[in-house]
Amino acid sequence: MNSVEKVESIRHQVQFCQDCQLARTRQRTVFGSGNPASKLMIVAEGPSARDEQTGQPFTGPAGVLLDDVLAENQLSREQVWLTNLLKCRAFVWKDGQSNNRPPKSSEIRSCNRWLSQEVSLIAPTVILCMGTPAAKFIIRPSFRLAKERGIWFSDNGYAPFVSATYNPAYVLRMPGLGKDFYQGRRLLVEDIAEAKLKSQEVSVKSQLNLFLD
Ligand code: SF4
Repeated sequence: MNSVEKVESIRHQVQFCQDCQLARTRQRTVFGSGNPASKLMIVAEGPSARDEQTGQPFTGPAGVLLDDVLAENQLSREQVWLTNLLKCRAFVWKDGQSNNRPPKSSEIRSCNRWLSQEVSLIAPTVILCMGTPAAKFIIRPSFRLAKERGIWFSDNGYAPFVSATYNPAYVLRMPGLGKDFYQGRRLLVEDIAEAKLKSQEVSVKSQLNLFLD
């Protein structure tokens, strides 16, 4: 089985996962997508309602913003690997509507069974966490996005280089929070640029090391 077939095998197995309470409320699972040979992996917290409908991560308005900021870095979603901590949607009912909620620690720990397999098959050199839940789980529990956004961390079990930026869904909510959408969007573009550069630097260095060997 080659690595693409292995990724598809995990995608298939995830559909039947019953390892946490979210299995009872999901409409469908949402596994990662993109280029399984990419050195850059983007990890957010979990599927949105639209993601659950389409079966694809980062769809809807946040996905449109992600596509835009990737394009400003001459990247497309087909060139990177996009995924989430959770493969099932976490939500609460309020006023007759289902609203996304942050994942619980127990759900993240259960679903790490799938994320860790995904990471070991894709073997990214760079992970860009989008949003606090992904950064707290992959980098460290005390991570503070406001203070540590854009810093590189290497002391983790997931990839040689990990950093964190805003989730595009949060950037879209910034005006309602009294924050500057355009500044948030600009920082998102810059953080993706740094992640792209880091993945290319590491790739060139490993080729040079091979040449020197
Ligand atoms: S969120 Fe993850 S662990 Fe929980 S049921 Fe879905 S796939 Fe399984």
